[in-house]
Amino acid sequence: MTGDGRRHLVIVGASLAGLRAAQTLRAEGFEGELTVVGAELHAPYDRPPLSKQALTAPGGPPDTALPVPDGIRARWLLGRPAVALDPRAATVTLADGTTLPYDGLLVATGAAPRRLPPDRGAPPRRVFTLRDREDAHALRAELTPGRRLLVVGAGFLGSEVAAAGRALGLDVTVVEAGRLPLERVAGSAVGAFVADLHRTAGADLRVETTAETLHSGPDGALTGATLGDGTTVTADVAVLALGAVPATGWLAGSGLDAEGGVRCDRWLRALDTEGRVVPGVFAAGDAARVPQPLADGQPMALGHWSDALDQAATAARTMLTPHSPHALDAVPSFWSDLYGARIRSVGLPGAADEARVVEHDAVARRMEVSYHREGRLVGALTVGRTARLAAYREELHRRSTTVPAG
Ligand SMILES: Cc1cc2nc3c(=O)[nH]c(=O)nc-3n(C[C@H](O)[C@H](O)[C@H](O)COP(=O)(O)OP(=O)(O)OC[C@H]3O[C@@H](n4cnc5c(N)ncnc54)[C@H](O)[C@@H]3O)c2cc1C
Repeated sequence: MTGDGRRHLVIVGASLAGLRAAQTLRAEGFEGELTVVGAELHAPYDRPPLSKQALTAPGGPPDTALPVPDGIRARWLLGRPAVALDPRAATVTLADGTTLPYDGLLVATGAAPRRLPPDRGAPPRRVFTLRDREDAHALRAELTPGRRLLVVGAGFLGSEVAAAGRALGLDVTVVEAGRLPLERVAGSAVGAFVADLHRTAGADLRVETTAETLHSGPDGALTGATLGDGTTVTADVAVLALGAVPATGWLAGSGLDAEGGVRCDRWLRALDTEGRVVPGVFAAGDAARVPQPLADGQPMALGHWSDALDQAATAARTMLTPHSPHALDAVPSFWSDLYGARIRSVGLPGAADEARVVEHDAVARRMEVSYHREGRLVGALTVGRTARLAAYREELHRRSTTVPAG
Protein backbone atom coordinates (compact mmCIF):
# COMPACT_ATOMS: atom_id res chain seq x y z
CA MET A 1 0.00 0.00 0.00
CA THR A 2 1.16 3.53 -0.54
CA GLY A 3 0.92 6.46 1.81
CA ASP A 4 0.01 4.29 4.81
CA GLY A 5 3.03 5.30 6.83
CA ARG A 6 1.36 8.60 7.63
CA ARG A 7 -2.09 7.29 8.43
CA HIS A 8 -3.40 6.83 11.97
CA LEU A 9 -6.14 4.25 12.36
CA VAL A 10 -8.07 3.99 15.62
CA ILE A 11 -10.10 1.00 16.77
CA VAL A 12 -12.51 1.59 19.64
CA GLY A 13 -13.26 -1.68 21.43
CA ALA A 14 -10.37 -3.93 22.44
CA SER A 15 -12.00 -7.32 22.23
CA LEU A 16 -12.85 -9.89 19.57
CA ALA A 17 -13.79 -7.61 16.66
CA GLY A 18 -11.20 -4.97 17.60
CA LEU A 19 -8.40 -7.50 17.72
CA ARG A 20 -9.41 -9.18 14.47
CA ALA A 21 -9.54 -5.81 12.74
CA ALA A 22 -6.06 -4.93 14.03
CA GLN A 23 -4.72 -8.30 12.87
CA THR A 24 -6.26 -7.88 9.44
CA LEU A 25 -4.92 -4.35 9.01
CA ARG A 26 -1.37 -5.57 9.62
CA ALA A 27 -1.83 -8.74 7.60
CA GLU A 28 -2.99 -6.59 4.68
CA GLY A 29 0.19 -4.54 4.90
CA PHE A 30 -0.88 -1.47 6.88
CA GLU A 31 2.31 0.18 8.10
CA GLY A 32 0.88 3.31 9.72
CA GLU A 33 0.06 4.10 13.33
CA LEU A 34 -2.57 1.93 15.01
CA THR A 35 -4.30 2.69 18.31
CA VAL A 36 -6.75 0.35 20.06
CA VAL A 37 -8.93 1.89 22.76
CA GLY A 38 -10.62 -0.36 25.34
CA ALA A 39 -13.01 0.34 28.20
CA GLU A 40 -11.86 -2.72 30.09
CA LEU A 41 -8.42 -3.05 31.66
CA HIS A 42 -8.01 -6.49 30.10
CA ALA A 43 -6.24 -7.34 26.89
CA PRO A 44 -8.66 -8.97 24.43
CA TYR A 45 -10.38 -12.11 25.69
CA ASP A 46 -13.08 -14.45 24.54
CA ARG A 47 -16.63 -14.25 25.90
CA PRO A 48 -18.34 -17.53 24.90
CA PRO A 49 -16.63 -19.55 27.68
CA LEU A 50 -17.97 -17.09 30.28
CA SER A 51 -21.41 -18.72 30.27
CA LYS A 52 -20.00 -22.24 29.90
CA GLN A 53 -16.62 -23.55 31.17
CA ALA A 54 -15.89 -20.38 33.16
CA LEU A 55 -18.83 -21.19 35.43
CA THR A 56 -18.26 -24.92 35.78
CA ALA A 57 -14.60 -25.83 35.20
CA PRO A 58 -13.09 -27.32 38.36
CA GLY A 59 -10.07 -25.46 39.66
CA GLY A 60 -11.14 -21.99 38.57
CA PRO A 61 -12.13 -20.30 35.34
CA PRO A 62 -9.99 -21.12 32.30
CA ASP A 63 -7.88 -18.36 30.77
CA THR A 64 -9.92 -16.99 27.90
CA ALA A 65 -7.32 -14.48 26.69
CA LEU A 66 -7.22 -14.13 22.91
CA PRO A 67 -3.69 -14.46 21.54
CA VAL A 68 -2.34 -11.11 20.37
CA PRO A 69 0.24 -11.68 17.59
CA ASP A 70 3.53 -9.81 17.96
CA GLY A 71 3.20 -8.14 14.60
CA ILE A 72 0.21 -6.02 15.62
CA ARG A 73 2.37 -3.12 16.82
CA ALA A 74 -0.60 -1.26 18.25
CA ARG A 75 -0.75 1.31 21.00
CA TRP A 76 -3.23 -0.14 23.51
CA LEU A 77 -5.17 2.40 25.55
CA LEU A 78 -6.94 0.09 27.99
CA GLY A 79 -9.29 1.07 30.80
CA ARG A 80 -10.05 4.27 28.93
CA PRO A 81 -13.52 4.21 27.36
CA ALA A 82 -14.27 6.42 24.40
CA VAL A 83 -16.95 8.95 25.29
CA ALA A 84 -17.48 10.96 22.10
CA LEU A 85 -16.91 10.94 18.38
CA ASP A 86 -16.69 14.01 16.18
CA PRO A 87 -16.62 12.80 12.57
CA ARG A 88 -16.22 16.35 11.18
CA ALA A 89 -13.07 16.98 13.16
CA ALA A 90 -12.14 13.28 12.79
CA THR A 91 -11.44 12.91 16.50
CA VAL A 92 -12.48 10.55 19.23
CA THR A 93 -12.46 11.62 22.88
CA LEU A 94 -11.69 9.31 25.78
CA ALA A 95 -13.06 9.45 29.34
CA ASP A 96 -9.76 10.87 30.61
CA GLY A 97 -10.08 13.82 28.26
CA THR A 98 -7.59 12.59 25.65
CA THR A 99 -8.56 13.52 22.11
CA LEU A 100 -7.31 11.20 19.38
CA PRO A 101 -7.28 12.40 15.79
CA TYR A 102 -7.78 9.61 13.25
CA ASP A 103 -7.66 9.00 9.53
CA GLY A 104 -9.90 5.97 9.92
CA LEU A 105 -11.96 4.80 12.90
CA LEU A 106 -13.55 1.45 13.62
CA VAL A 107 -16.38 1.19 16.14
CA ALA A 108 -16.08 -2.26 17.76
CA THR A 109 -17.59 -1.57 21.18
CA GLY A 110 -19.77 -4.68 21.34
CA ALA A 111 -22.90 -4.82 23.44
CA ALA A 112 -24.02 -4.50 27.04
CA PRO A 113 -26.58 -6.61 28.89
CA ARG A 114 -30.14 -5.36 28.86
CA ARG A 115 -31.02 -4.46 32.43
CA LEU A 116 -34.24 -4.15 34.39
CA PRO A 117 -36.10 -0.90 33.75
CA PRO A 118 -34.72 1.80 36.08
CA ASP A 119 -38.13 2.28 37.73
CA ARG A 120 -37.68 -1.12 39.37
CA GLY A 121 -34.86 0.32 41.50
CA ALA A 122 -31.47 -1.22 42.21
CA PRO A 123 -31.57 -5.03 42.17
CA PRO A 124 -30.82 -6.97 45.36
CA ARG A 125 -27.35 -8.41 45.95
CA ARG A 126 -26.55 -11.67 44.12
CA VAL A 127 -28.46 -10.57 41.03
CA PHE A 128 -26.18 -10.66 38.00
CA THR A 129 -25.94 -9.92 34.34
CA LEU A 130 -23.24 -11.68 32.35
CA ARG A 131 -21.11 -9.99 29.75
CA ASP A 132 -17.55 -9.62 30.94
CA ARG A 133 -14.91 -11.48 32.88
CA GLU A 134 -15.72 -9.76 36.18
CA ASP A 135 -19.39 -10.73 35.82
CA ALA A 136 -18.43 -14.36 35.26
CA HIS A 137 -16.00 -14.45 38.20
CA ALA A 138 -18.51 -12.83 40.55
CA LEU A 139 -21.31 -15.15 39.45
CA ARG A 140 -19.15 -18.25 39.69
CA ALA A 141 -18.29 -17.42 43.30
CA GLU A 142 -22.00 -17.43 44.17
CA LEU A 143 -22.91 -20.67 42.41
CA THR A 144 -22.22 -22.83 45.44
CA PRO A 145 -23.91 -26.17 46.19
CA GLY A 146 -27.24 -25.89 47.96
CA ARG A 147 -28.05 -22.49 46.50
CA ARG A 148 -31.09 -21.92 44.36
CA LEU A 149 -30.50 -20.20 41.04
CA LEU A 150 -33.11 -18.17 39.20
CA VAL A 151 -32.44 -17.47 35.53
CA VAL A 152 -34.61 -14.81 33.93
CA GLY A 153 -34.74 -15.30 30.16
CA ALA A 154 -34.28 -18.63 28.36
CA GLY A 155 -32.39 -17.42 25.29
CA PHE A 156 -29.02 -18.98 24.55
CA LEU A 157 -27.22 -17.12 27.34
CA GLY A 158 -29.84 -17.82 30.01
CA SER A 159 -30.14 -21.44 28.91
CA GLU A 160 -26.36 -21.92 29.12
CA VAL A 161 -26.28 -20.40 32.61
CA ALA A 162 -29.13 -22.70 33.68
CA ALA A 163 -27.20 -25.69 32.29
CA ALA A 164 -24.11 -24.56 34.23
CA GLY A 165 -26.23 -24.24 37.38
CA ARG A 166 -27.55 -27.77 36.99
CA ALA A 167 -24.05 -29.11 36.25
CA LEU A 168 -22.98 -27.61 39.58
CA GLY A 169 -25.91 -29.27 41.33
CA LEU A 170 -27.93 -26.14 42.11
CA ASP A 171 -31.72 -26.02 42.07
CA VAL A 172 -32.50 -24.01 38.97
CA THR A 173 -35.64 -22.15 37.95
CA VAL A 174 -35.79 -20.61 34.48
CA VAL A 175 -38.39 -17.96 33.73
CA GLU A 176 -39.22 -17.27 30.11
CA ALA A 177 -41.71 -14.73 28.76
CA GLY A 178 -42.31 -16.65 25.52
CA ARG A 179 -44.22 -19.86 25.02
CA LEU A 180 -40.98 -21.80 24.62
CA PRO A 181 -37.29 -21.00 25.02
CA LEU A 182 -35.73 -19.58 21.84
CA GLU A 183 -38.97 -19.78 19.90
CA ARG A 184 -38.60 -16.29 18.47
CA VAL A 185 -35.16 -16.95 17.04
CA ALA A 186 -35.38 -20.64 16.19
CA GLY A 187 -39.06 -21.63 16.03
CA SER A 188 -41.26 -23.92 18.07
CA ALA A 189 -39.61 -27.29 17.27
CA VAL A 190 -36.23 -26.09 18.55
CA GLY A 191 -37.99 -24.30 21.42
CA ALA A 192 -39.65 -27.57 22.48
CA PHE A 193 -36.33 -29.39 22.12
CA VAL A 194 -34.56 -26.91 24.40
CA ALA A 195 -37.48 -26.93 26.89
CA ASP A 196 -37.05 -30.69 27.03
CA LEU A 197 -33.29 -30.35 27.63
CA HIS A 198 -34.00 -28.05 30.59
CA ARG A 199 -36.66 -30.27 32.11
CA THR A 200 -34.77 -33.54 31.58
CA ALA A 201 -31.82 -31.98 33.40
CA GLY A 202 -34.09 -31.08 36.31
CA ALA A 203 -34.45 -27.33 35.74
CA ASP A 204 -37.86 -25.90 36.61
CA LEU A 205 -38.83 -24.07 33.42
CA ARG A 206 -41.68 -21.56 33.81
CA VAL A 207 -42.88 -20.19 30.48
CA GLU A 208 -45.19 -17.34 29.46
CA THR A 209 -44.32 -15.41 32.56
CA THR A 210 -41.78 -12.88 33.72
CA ALA A 211 -39.97 -12.02 36.94
CA GLU A 212 -42.02 -9.07 38.16
CA THR A 213 -40.48 -8.31 41.54
CA LEU A 214 -37.19 -9.41 43.03
CA HIS A 215 -37.22 -9.76 46.82
CA SER A 216 -34.39 -9.32 49.26
CA GLY A 217 -33.81 -10.06 52.93
CA PRO A 218 -32.66 -7.64 55.64
CA ASP A 219 -29.06 -8.01 54.43
CA GLY A 220 -30.07 -6.84 50.96
CA ALA A 221 -29.39 -10.24 49.34
CA LEU A 222 -31.85 -11.88 46.97
CA THR A 223 -34.44 -14.18 48.53
CA GLY A 224 -36.74 -14.80 45.59
CA ALA A 225 -39.06 -13.34 43.02
CA THR A 226 -42.73 -12.88 42.31
CA LEU A 227 -43.59 -13.87 38.77
CA GLY A 228 -46.12 -12.29 36.45
CA ASP A 229 -48.46 -15.27 36.91
CA GLY A 230 -48.63 -14.50 40.65
CA THR A 231 -46.47 -17.43 41.77
CA THR A 232 -43.31 -16.96 43.78
CA VAL A 233 -39.90 -18.54 43.46
CA THR A 234 -37.29 -18.72 46.19
CA ALA A 235 -33.78 -18.02 45.01
CA ASP A 236 -30.39 -17.07 46.42
CA VAL A 237 -28.76 -16.07 43.13
CA ALA A 238 -30.32 -14.71 39.94
CA VAL A 239 -29.02 -14.07 36.47
CA LEU A 240 -30.89 -11.63 34.26
CA ALA A 241 -30.38 -12.87 30.71
CA LEU A 242 -32.64 -10.40 28.97
CA GLY A 243 -30.60 -9.91 25.82
CA ALA A 244 -27.94 -7.39 24.90
CA VAL A 245 -28.00 -3.87 23.54
CA PRO A 246 -25.24 -2.57 21.25
CA ALA A 247 -22.82 -0.37 23.25
CA THR A 248 -23.20 2.73 21.13
CA GLY A 249 -24.41 5.28 23.70
CA TRP A 250 -21.03 7.03 23.48
CA LEU A 251 -21.83 7.96 19.86
CA ALA A 252 -24.74 10.22 20.85
CA GLY A 253 -24.36 13.57 19.12
CA SER A 254 -21.96 12.20 16.48
CA GLY A 255 -24.59 12.16 13.75
CA LEU A 256 -24.18 8.41 13.25
CA ASP A 257 -27.33 6.32 13.02
CA ALA A 258 -26.30 4.37 16.10
CA GLU A 259 -29.53 3.57 17.94
CA GLY A 260 -29.58 -0.21 18.35
CA GLY A 261 -26.17 -0.53 16.69
CA VAL A 262 -24.23 1.55 14.20
CA ARG A 263 -26.06 1.24 10.91
CA CYS A 264 -23.63 0.27 8.17
CA ASP A 265 -23.73 -0.49 4.50
CA ARG A 266 -22.55 -3.90 3.31
CA TRP A 267 -19.00 -2.55 3.13
CA LEU A 268 -19.19 -1.86 6.89
CA ARG A 269 -19.05 1.90 6.38
CA ALA A 270 -21.00 3.75 9.07
CA LEU A 271 -24.08 5.69 7.96
CA ASP A 272 -25.51 8.88 9.42
CA THR A 273 -29.14 9.41 10.34
CA GLU A 274 -29.84 10.48 6.72
CA GLY A 275 -28.38 7.19 5.45
CA ARG A 276 -25.21 8.84 4.08
CA VAL A 277 -21.74 7.32 4.48
CA VAL A 278 -19.77 8.98 7.28
CA PRO A 279 -16.28 9.33 5.80
CA GLY A 280 -13.57 7.45 7.66
CA VAL A 281 -15.89 5.69 10.13
CA PHE A 282 -16.62 1.95 10.10
CA ALA A 283 -18.25 -0.53 12.49
CA ALA A 284 -18.12 -4.25 13.15
CA GLY A 285 -19.28 -6.91 15.59
CA ASP A 286 -22.04 -6.68 18.17
CA ALA A 287 -22.01 -2.87 17.92
CA ALA A 288 -22.88 -2.89 14.21
CA ARG A 289 -26.17 -3.21 12.32
CA VAL A 290 -25.34 -4.71 8.95
CA PRO A 291 -27.68 -5.32 5.99
CA GLN A 292 -28.59 -8.98 5.77
CA PRO A 293 -29.28 -10.29 2.27
CA LEU A 294 -31.12 -13.27 3.79
CA ALA A 295 -33.54 -10.82 5.45
CA ASP A 296 -34.09 -8.75 2.30
CA GLY A 297 -31.25 -6.41 3.17
CA GLN A 298 -32.62 -5.39 6.57
CA PRO A 299 -29.81 -4.08 8.81
CA MET A 300 -29.43 -6.30 11.87
CA ALA A 301 -27.13 -6.53 14.89
CA LEU A 302 -26.55 -10.26 15.27
CA GLY A 303 -24.49 -10.71 18.43
CA HIS A 304 -22.62 -13.79 17.21
CA TRP A 305 -18.94 -14.57 17.64
CA SER A 306 -18.12 -15.57 14.07
CA ASP A 307 -20.03 -12.63 12.59
CA ALA A 308 -17.93 -10.28 14.70
CA LEU A 309 -14.80 -11.81 13.17
CA ASP A 310 -16.09 -11.72 9.59
CA GLN A 311 -17.30 -8.15 9.90
CA ALA A 312 -14.09 -6.96 11.54
CA ALA A 313 -11.94 -8.46 8.78
CA THR A 314 -14.12 -6.92 6.08
CA ALA A 315 -14.26 -3.53 7.79
CA ALA A 316 -10.47 -3.50 8.17
CA ARG A 317 -10.01 -4.16 4.45
CA THR A 318 -12.45 -1.43 3.57
CA MET A 319 -10.62 0.97 5.91
CA LEU A 320 -7.46 0.41 3.91
CA THR A 321 -9.02 0.86 0.50
CA PRO A 322 -12.08 3.09 1.01
CA HIS A 323 -12.35 3.75 -2.72
CA SER A 324 -12.66 0.06 -3.58
CA PRO A 325 -14.51 -1.19 -0.51
CA HIS A 326 -14.88 -4.86 0.42
CA ALA A 327 -18.39 -6.21 0.77
CA LEU A 328 -19.28 -8.58 3.59
CA ASP A 329 -20.15 -11.90 2.03
CA ALA A 330 -19.99 -14.26 5.03
CA VAL A 331 -23.03 -16.25 6.10
CA PRO A 332 -24.05 -15.59 9.73
CA SER A 333 -23.41 -18.49 12.08
CA PHE A 334 -23.79 -19.29 15.73
CA TRP A 335 -23.19 -22.11 18.19
CA SER A 336 -24.24 -22.92 21.72
CA ASP A 337 -23.55 -25.76 24.15
CA LEU A 338 -26.48 -26.82 26.28
CA TYR A 339 -26.39 -29.74 28.69
CA GLY A 340 -23.77 -31.38 26.48
CA ALA A 341 -25.78 -30.86 23.29
CA ARG A 342 -24.04 -28.81 20.62
CA ILE A 343 -26.43 -26.46 18.84
CA ARG A 344 -25.21 -24.80 15.67
CA SER A 345 -26.91 -22.57 13.17
CA VAL A 346 -26.10 -20.90 9.88
CA GLY A 347 -27.99 -18.13 8.15
CA LEU A 348 -30.85 -16.36 9.87
CA PRO A 349 -33.37 -18.77 11.37
CA GLY A 350 -35.04 -15.79 13.04
CA ALA A 351 -35.85 -14.25 9.64
CA ALA A 352 -37.87 -17.28 8.50
CA ASP A 353 -41.61 -17.57 8.04
CA GLU A 354 -41.44 -21.37 7.94
CA ALA A 355 -39.34 -23.99 9.73
CA ARG A 356 -39.08 -27.51 8.28
CA VAL A 357 -38.01 -30.21 10.71
CA VAL A 358 -35.80 -32.64 8.79
CA GLU A 359 -34.82 -34.76 11.81
CA HIS A 360 -35.92 -34.76 15.44
CA ASP A 361 -34.63 -37.47 17.73
CA ALA A 362 -35.14 -36.42 21.33
CA VAL A 363 -33.51 -39.55 22.74
CA ALA A 364 -30.30 -39.32 20.69
CA ARG A 365 -30.49 -35.51 21.10
CA ARG A 366 -30.22 -34.87 17.39
CA MET A 367 -32.04 -32.35 15.31
CA GLU A 368 -31.94 -30.74 11.89
CA VAL A 369 -34.23 -27.88 10.90
CA SER A 370 -34.18 -25.78 7.75
CA TYR A 371 -35.66 -22.28 7.72
CA HIS A 372 -37.37 -20.57 4.79
CA ARG A 373 -38.68 -17.14 3.95
CA GLU A 374 -41.22 -16.96 1.18
CA GLY A 375 -40.13 -20.46 0.23
CA ARG A 376 -36.41 -19.66 0.02
CA LEU A 377 -33.79 -21.08 2.35
CA VAL A 378 -32.60 -18.51 4.93
CA GLY A 379 -31.07 -20.68 7.63
CA ALA A 380 -30.50 -24.07 9.19
CA LEU A 381 -29.98 -25.33 12.72
CA THR A 382 -28.64 -28.64 13.95
CA VAL A 383 -28.22 -30.31 17.29
CA GLY A 384 -25.52 -33.00 17.27
CA ARG A 385 -25.40 -32.92 13.49
CA THR A 386 -22.83 -30.24 12.75
CA ALA A 387 -21.56 -31.93 9.59
CA ARG A 388 -24.91 -31.36 7.93
CA LEU A 389 -24.51 -27.59 8.03
CA ALA A 390 -21.83 -27.40 5.33
CA ALA A 391 -24.27 -27.93 2.48
CA TYR A 392 -26.70 -25.37 3.92
CA ARG A 393 -23.89 -22.89 4.36
CA GLU A 394 -22.88 -23.23 0.71
CA GLU A 395 -26.41 -22.74 -0.49
CA LEU A 396 -26.90 -19.73 1.81
CA HIS A 397 -23.63 -18.24 0.65
CA ARG A 398 -24.79 -18.53 -2.94
CA ARG A 399 -28.05 -16.86 -2.04
CA SER A 400 -26.44 -14.10 0.04
CA THR A 401 -24.13 -13.09 -2.77
CA THR A 402 -26.78 -13.08 -5.49
CA VAL A 403 -29.54 -11.22 -3.63
CA PRO A 404 -29.14 -7.44 -3.30
CA ALA A 405 -28.14 -6.58 0.27
CA GLY A 406 -29.78 -3.18 0.46
C1 LIG B 1 -21.38 -14.83 28.10
C2 LIG B 1 -21.40 -14.83 26.61
C3 LIG B 1 -21.45 -16.03 25.91
C4 LIG B 1 -21.46 -16.04 24.52
N1 LIG B 1 -21.53 -17.25 23.87
C5 LIG B 1 -21.55 -17.26 22.52
C6 LIG B 1 -21.63 -18.49 21.82
O1 LIG B 1 -21.69 -19.57 22.42
N2 LIG B 1 -21.65 -18.45 20.47
C7 LIG B 1 -21.59 -17.28 19.76
O2 LIG B 1 -21.63 -17.29 18.52
N3 LIG B 1 -21.52 -16.09 20.41
C8 LIG B 1 -21.50 -16.06 21.76
N4 LIG B 1 -21.43 -14.87 22.43
C9 LIG B 1 -21.38 -13.61 21.65
C10 LIG B 1 -19.94 -13.22 21.30
O3 LIG B 1 -19.12 -13.29 22.43
C11 LIG B 1 -19.97 -11.80 20.75
O4 LIG B 1 -20.68 -11.85 19.53
C12 LIG B 1 -18.58 -11.22 20.53
O5 LIG B 1 -17.90 -11.08 21.75
C13 LIG B 1 -18.68 -9.87 19.83
O6 LIG B 1 -17.42 -9.29 19.75
P1 LIG B 1 -17.24 -7.70 19.75
O7 LIG B 1 -15.77 -7.48 19.71
O8 LIG B 1 -18.12 -7.12 18.73
O9 LIG B 1 -17.84 -7.23 21.14
P2 LIG B 1 -17.33 -7.51 22.61
O10 LIG B 1 -16.70 -8.85 22.70
O11 LIG B 1 -18.45 -7.19 23.52
O12 LIG B 1 -16.17 -6.42 22.79
C14 LIG B 1 -16.43 -5.06 22.82
C15 LIG B 1 -15.37 -4.41 23.66
O13 LIG B 1 -15.54 -2.99 23.57
C16 LIG B 1 -15.41 -2.44 24.86
N5 LIG B 1 -16.12 -1.16 24.91
C17 LIG B 1 -17.44 -0.94 25.10
N6 LIG B 1 -17.70 0.39 25.08
C18 LIG B 1 -16.51 1.01 24.89
C19 LIG B 1 -16.11 2.36 24.77
N7 LIG B 1 -17.00 3.35 24.84
N8 LIG B 1 -14.80 2.63 24.58
C20 LIG B 1 -13.89 1.64 24.49
N9 LIG B 1 -14.21 0.33 24.58
C21 LIG B 1 -15.51 0.02 24.78
C22 LIG B 1 -15.99 -3.49 25.78
O14 LIG B 1 -15.52 -3.32 27.10
C23 LIG B 1 -15.47 -4.78 25.14
O15 LIG B 1 -14.23 -5.14 25.63
C24 LIG B 1 -21.43 -14.82 23.81
C25 LIG B 1 -21.39 -13.61 24.51
C26 LIG B 1 -21.39 -13.61 25.90
C27 LIG B 1 -21.37 -12.30 26.65
